[in-house]
Amino acid sequence: MTVKVRSYLEDFGDVKAAYAEYIADLQQGEEAGDVTSGICARLSLLLNSRVHDLNQRFARGEVPKCLDARWTVEAYVFVGDADGKFFTVRQGSQIAVLIDADLLLRLVAFIYLVGLDREDDQIAQCLSAFMLLSIVVPRPEPIEFMGELLAATSREKQRVLNDIFVATSSFLVFHELGHSYGEATGTIRPHLKLSFGLPEGLADPDSVQSLKYHADGTLYNRLDIPGTTTGMLVINPVFEHWRDEFSADAFAAYAHVLTSSDGRPGRGSLDQLASAIECWQLVLFAIGSRERYVRAISEVREIESVSHPQDHVRMDVLAHHLDHIALDFVPDWQSHAVGLLHIHYQSLWAADMRSLLDDGVEYVRYAFDEDGPHINDGRLRTFTGQPVRYSPSALSKLKAEVMDPFLTRAEQIGWDKAVSERQKEDCWFFGTFKLNGVPIILKLGRRLRDVGVRLISEDRV
Ligand SMILES: [Zn+2]
Repeated sequence: MTVKVRSYLEDFGDVKAAYAEYIADLQQGEEAGDVTSGICARLSLLLNSRVHDLNQRFARGEVPKCLDARWTVEAYVFVGDADGKFFTVRQGSQIAVLIDADLLLRLVAFIYLVGLDREDDQIAQCLSAFMLLSIVVPRPEPIEFMGELLAATSREKQRVLNDIFVATSSFLVFHELGHSYGEATGTIRPHLKLSFGLPEGLADPDSVQSLKYHADGTLYNRLDIPGTTTGMLVINPVFEHWRDEFSADAFAAYAHVLTSSDGRPGRGSLDQLASAIECWQLVLFAIGSRERYVRAISEVREIESVSHPQDHVRMDVLAHHLDHIALDFVPDWQSHAVGLLHIHYQSLWAADMRSLLDDGVEYVRYAFDEDGPHINDGRLRTFTGQPVRYSPSALSKLKAEVMDPFLTRAEQIGWDKAVSERQKEDCWFFGTFKLNGVPIILKLGRRLRDVGVRLISEDRV
């Protein structure tokens, strides 16, 4: 699949017409045997139907009071080659939401592998570390075994894989629609329960409490909202720059609940939101780490030039809004899913995880592909300004040494048996990726598994 989504938009000038042609071309590609085209066509249509569902909810006025029911959007979702990004293009009153398929597939594979519940499956663990690092340190190299890997995982747990796809991509699409909602409704955002700094002339100092969502995270204030059990999260005024981003995240959470059931959202919808946020936090963690990395090497210092606020703060704000959303739909909601989310959240965003990831990034920059002080080709350069080649790359070696034989075997005897059979030699290979003598891929993979995120939709199989 090599056609860029943007070229369709440029050719037609009308998003609806471009979309029809885009889908027709993808379907033709699939008939000609291109698996990726088929995946992109199905995902585009599936996500488009969720946009439709959301519009219907608004049109019927089935939205909580904090949202403006007059809102509607003519949006089309394009999954495909979108230059490694997720973003929106506006053409008149229509919008095109562009979701980069390669990045989405990496995220889905990462989440799936982190969630596999077999302590001794070191292959899944190491692959999850590889996936994460391939997202955090962007380089223009495709993962050649991605199609086969997804085929293998879908043979094992199709429903789980599907749920991860839906949860992950819905968040990305609804976040983009949240920007459109924000533009349409102006500066008043009752669904956003954030205050950038303490309000002036605060009458009652006792209405302010300190609170921490994460043990290693930011200390916030919380303002009581009279008559409710939740409050307004007070954050540093410096974050006001990203009001739209927080607003779009909170909107995405509402949209997810609204589209997760046919009737009025109930406990089941909230449980689904909590498990979707399990996926979202892994997305925020991976994408946020990538932004931080790119920022560090491009030596950008001004806060305004960063497109999104810190991933950890975004996650705190989401956690804060989960309480509000529950109040809007099922005030006495208590859930096992939230308890789990809290535990995983503590583990994923812990300081030791961050430093392990930093080690992984250092490793990819300097020693991933071959010995020597390298970083990778493409837009990323060494400190001397020289690009660095990566041939043969670690990813191509991984494919030849591990993934080709492993995936062939997994097709014959199943994933778990293939792991047991090949564990020794494959782990030896993973063990050769060392930073200062420490097998960094093995260690990072192990730590990711210990976060404990499990594929809870398995319970429903
Ligand atoms: Zn955004």
